[in-house]
Amino acid sequence: MSAKLFVLAGPTAVGKGTVAAAMRDQHPEIYLSVSATTRPPRPGEVDGVHYHFVSVEEFDRLVAEGQMLEWAVVHGVHRYGTPRGPVTEALAAGRPALLEIDLQGARQVRETAPDAVFVFLKPPSWEELVRRLVGRGTEDEEERERRLATAREELAAEAEFDVTIVNREVHSAVEELVSLMVDSSTEL
Ligand code: 5GP
Repeated sequence: MSAKLFVLAGPTAVGKGTVAAAMRDQHPEIYLSVSATTRPPRPGEVDGVHYHFVSVEEFDRLVAEGQMLEWAVVHGVHRYGTPRGPVTEALAAGRPALLEIDLQGARQVRETAPDAVFVFLKPPSWEELVRRLVGRGTEDEEERERRLATAREELAAEAEFDVTIVNREVHSAVEELVSLMVDSSTEL
């Protein structure tokens, strides 16, 4: 029987990427999906590891060919999507798989894969979320405002999810996530 699909979503700057990367490093048995994006790489990001960095034309081709499990325009600018093939292969091989995606993407997965488990990662408070977004220093003022506006809407979506994890501290958030993924998988 194939393993279970998990979706990790939550507001911008809550630490989804950090939690997902820490999980991948500590638990290579879990498959972490590598998304495709039209956003240019940030310093230190490696093509094929953090994202598949593709052109708009290439992205559109993948969508047209049905190779995306879900995709969305995030923060009103760049396209992000989950390549379907590697996720299907991991699940078929018995590896639980995790998608770290935005809310629009999570809603699409709910339609196409209703058996997936939806996990909402939440900041300890709104003030802490703002502090993390400013502290990250990777976005300019305009981009920050746009992301905060998105975050406000995203926080309101918690009730749509199966489980909430509060990201007080990366280590314990990873532990919670992994125990959920491992427990749910052994139930199958
Ligand atoms: P960033 O540009 O900071 O790496 O990511 C911006 C947002 O895009 C994050 O909220 C992240 O969850 C979301 N994202 C990353 N990959 C995907 C994807 O494949 N699909 C969707 N829908 N959102 C994604």
